[in-house]
Amino acid sequence: MPIQGSANQFVCDLVAYEPGKPIEETARELGLQPAEIIKLASNENPLGPSPRAKAAMRAALEEGHLYPDGGGWKLRSAIAEKHDVAMENVVLGNGSNEIIELLCHSFLNPRTALIAAEHAFVVYKLMATLFGARYVEVPDPGFVHDLEAMADAIDEETRLVFIANPNNPTGTLVSQEAIERFVDRLPGHVVAVFDEAYHEFLEEPPDTVRYVREGRNVCVMRTFSKAQGLAALRIGYGLASGPVAGLLQRARQPFNANAIAQAGALAALRDDEHVARTVETNNEGLKLFHQAFEARGLRHVPSVANFVLVEVGDGDAVFQKMLKEGVIVRAMRGYKLAGWVRISVGTPSQNLRCLEVLDRALAD
Ligand SMILES: *Cc1c(COP(=O)(O)O)cnc(C)c1O
Repeated sequence: MPIQGSANQFVCDLVAYEPGKPIEETARELGLQPAEIIKLASNENPLGPSPRAKAAMRAALEEGHLYPDGGGWKLRSAIAEKHDVAMENVVLGNGSNEIIELLCHSFLNPRTALIAAEHAFVVYKLMATLFGARYVEVPDPGFVHDLEAMADAIDEETRLVFIANPNNPTGTLVSQEAIERFVDRLPGHVVAVFDEAYHEFLEEPPDTVRYVREGRNVCVMRTFSKAQGLAALRIGYGLASGPVAGLLQRARQPFNANAIAQAGALAALRDDEHVARTVETNNEGLKLFHQAFEARGLRHVPSVANFVLVEVGDGDAVFQKMLKEGVIVRAMRGYKLAGWVRISVGTPSQNLRCLEVLDRALAD
């Protein structure tokens, strides 16, 4: 009997997550130097890690023989203080992706359902599949989450509703008013999850942490991977009302957030300067891309995050052509957007090179 016959069917059903193509791998395949390649495929910070975080992480290496603080005391207290919540409301994750998994561990099984938008971040679907839950996809006209329709989709099997705000890969935002109406309609057996990985990039971010303070069944997810530039370290967190946070704490591994990442995140939390520079660079780049697509008559989704979704005809072909010239973007077939690519905003020179290479890819 093939070993798959002994395996958990939900795992067999999974289609593995396809990350942005790494620079090293691309360099090997193309026979290029890594320095010649630019990666605008995973919404990483083009300015690099927070300098304060780098210093703190170097110092933390000296204690590399010791297990991390499993309770994450320093980092969790600093996060709690920043958001004016109690430390008990803060759960650390190995990236905010792990918070998604902890929520699924806590609430999902084959008799339950998870609701997300049609073009939502793909990890929600992967996790629902992994736990054998029903995945309910709600249409998002104009690539914007329709929170009314998402609330309408809730039934007695629903446990989790994921709202990525802004959403990846669309870069669109739902308003405070829409969120307010949605949270008001939330039945007692459902947790609303606000995935706010791009929160720092917003000019006027909706306030969802207030629902945590009010003790609603809500989890707000944040990450150090994007604006703070610590994607390699895998550190993020969830802010949740007491009972929800308590479940997530039980579901996690003892040392899920490593010590180097905790030290880096603590320093990054206080590095407002790096975030401000990052946001400024991003705003310039976003404007450039929006204007360039406008000028070329390319359909795109106006974004408030650090990436833009643009329609190019054949997304896979354009991805391949750009790759050959050393520019890595993200093809969107996995999101049922085969005609589109998603481009992360880079430094000013990376953005210009990306546009040149895109123009050549579209010309031939
Ligand atoms: C990038 C991203 C995350 C962050 O993932 P980490 O695991 O924290 O690196 C979470 N949600 C969305 C929608 C994202 O785009």
